[in-house]
Amino acid sequence: MRIYDVTLTISPTLPVWPGDPPVDLHRVSKMEEGEVCNVTRMNISVHTGTHVDAPYHFLAKGKTVETLDLKTLTGRAYVVEISNVDVVTAADIEAADIPPRTKRVLFKTRNSNHWTKNHSQFNTNFVGLSADAAKYLVERGVKLVGVDYLSVAPYEDTIPTHQILLKAGVIIVEGLDLSKISQGRYTFYCLPLKIAKADGAPARAMLIGV
Ligand SMILES: [Zn+2]
Repeated sequence: MRIYDVTLTISPTLPVWPGDPPVDLHRVSKMEEGEVCNVTRMNISVHTGTHVDAPYHFLAKGKTVETLDLKTLTGRAYVVEISNVDVVTAADIEAADIPPRTKRVLFKTRNSNHWTKNHSQFNTNFVGLSADAAKYLVERGVKLVGVDYLSVAPYEDTIPTHQILLKAGVIIVEGLDLSKISQGRYTFYCLPLKIAKADGAPARAMLIGV
């Protein structure tokens, strides 16, 4: 069994969405100062690094993250590589030959290159999914969509893609590092922190080769 960790490391150099608070890790108890143990306080947005969007992120009456179904967050998944586009459209997905009845699709794009370079600056030029791509995935019965940058939607047009997916009950996983992953079938595990009434949560995510 081969385990691939596709989680970004939470650190102060991790890029965050413009306007979100930067990652702040602060040790409030220090052994080198005579305390019995080290304790770190973390101040981050719930959309930091590898994370899940709950419907409540874009829908005022949507479900919050602690209620999301673990059955959807784990199971068979397909990683599809679409490398030469700036926006992933329905036509791109249709042409990509995703196996029928796939419930979880993870998109590997040129975004994954960013994670190999350790850029701390947010890149507004990332690849996202168009609204028609979101509609197409919903119509295909997809229940989980994963992407390799910090938003499923293009930077200039965030609302439609998020709303279409979240209204349909599709779970969105953002900030996956797929740089070392080849196209194909895997088992996916994504475990968002159980945070009450939250619009999202950081998650540990991994793929297991099948
Ligand atoms: Zn998010």
